[in-house]
Amino acid sequence: MRPLEGVQAEILAAVRRLESETVPLADAVGRVLAAPVVASHDVPQWANSAMDGFAVRSADVAEPGAVLEILADVPAGQVADTAVGPGQAIRIMTGAPMPEGADAVIRVEDASAESDKATIRVSAGEGLYVRPAGEDARAGVEVFGAGTRLTPMHVGALAAVGCVEPEVSRRPRAVVLSTGDELAPPETEDLAPGMIRDANRPMLAALLEEAGAVADDYGCVPDDADAFRAAIGRAATGADAIVSSGGVSMGDFDVTKAVLGDEVGVEFMQVAQAPGKPFGFGKIGGALFFGLPGNPVSALIAFETLVRPALLAMQGAAALLRPRVAGVAGRKLTGDPAKTVYLRVGVEERDGVWAAAPTGSQASNVLTGAAAADAFAILPRGVSAVDEGGAVTLELLRSAETRADPYEG
Ligand code: AMP
Ligand code: MG
Repeated sequence: MRPLEGVQAEILAAVRRLESETVPLADAVGRVLAAPVVASHDVPQWANSAMDGFAVRSADVAEPGAVLEILADVPAGQVADTAVGPGQAIRIMTGAPMPEGADAVIRVEDASAESDKATIRVSAGEGLYVRPAGEDARAGVEVFGAGTRLTPMHVGALAAVGCVEPEVSRRPRAVVLSTGDELAPPETEDLAPGMIRDANRPMLAALLEEAGAVADDYGCVPDDADAFRAAIGRAATGADAIVSSGGVSMGDFDVTKAVLGDEVGVEFMQVAQAPGKPFGFGKIGGALFFGLPGNPVSALIAFETLVRPALLAMQGAAALLRPRVAGVAGRKLTGDPAKTVYLRVGVEERDGVWAAAPTGSQASNVLTGAAAADAFAILPRGVSAVDEGGAVTLELLRSAETRADPYEG
């Protein structure tokens, strides 16, 4: 068996960076910046009011009780055409630029206004309720670096700095196929005896898309050498990655291994991880080939540890792994000292720490438990078990609160 880290390093060394392209903001979520984004102007561009109220000179309101003359009104989107002089104020709305002369804002609830006079009930120092220019981003300064994977929040921030066509890496094109004579397309109405629905292909296509790739679905390929060879041959032209499942173990009908086992540049191996031990990897044409095991949870974990980082590396992403946090075992977790073990767990806050407990059966054919998981609990090689309360590394799949109604109680 080969240690997981060694296989991961070999795969990353084989990755080729993809070219970049520009995309409109509407298509930018999930894409990886290929070049830094630099703000073309300050955001906000002008010092502006953080509140609805009165723009004043702080020297006039050093003590409560000042009475000021109201000169004008400035709504957001307009600029005051007069300066605020001593003893004067301008009625200002949130977001409107600070008028010349003014250096503080009195909230509307801290003043009473009668015709053109405002009585200020509070004192205020310089800068109160003023949002300075450049608070969010500075002209000419990098806002986000190359390698940033864009979230909806990045999209908003890019819009604010005027970067409406970010330069991002091209999405990897990834062929996905399943092998197995027993597989029927998921939409099959009546399964013949011995047949199962193909669960891996839709899952892997979704995982590919989530990793930023474009999945090209090649369907179910039977355990037939000619059919498999034809599919791989077709995929090798034009794809950046080929992801197949099934047929990589020791069985008599393991077509993937039978066809590609002697191929130069493709290697079948045992990765010291559970699930997801049997695995094939290599270069076929311009594509990286990933031969995942057939059991759905094994395919999932092998994808997570071996394929996903490679796809993100192709796109130049700075972070290749999902976020990891320190947690504790919510109950005894069992590993395998010979392997890196990925348990599918739910997490729950207990005394201020994340406590992890397996979500149902940990058998490699049981996908419902994986679907219920918030995280993977990673038990490194050499660890046979973690007792309840013991430290464990968690790799987060989603935030735990998605399980519960956040508006409840
Ligand atoms: P294999 O790796 O081809 O020997 O398959 C191992 C196990 O995974 C067998 O029980 C297969 O029926 C099952 N399996 C293989 N491919 C799929 C798939 N696409 N969807 C669901 N189960 C699968
Ligand atoms: Mg098979």
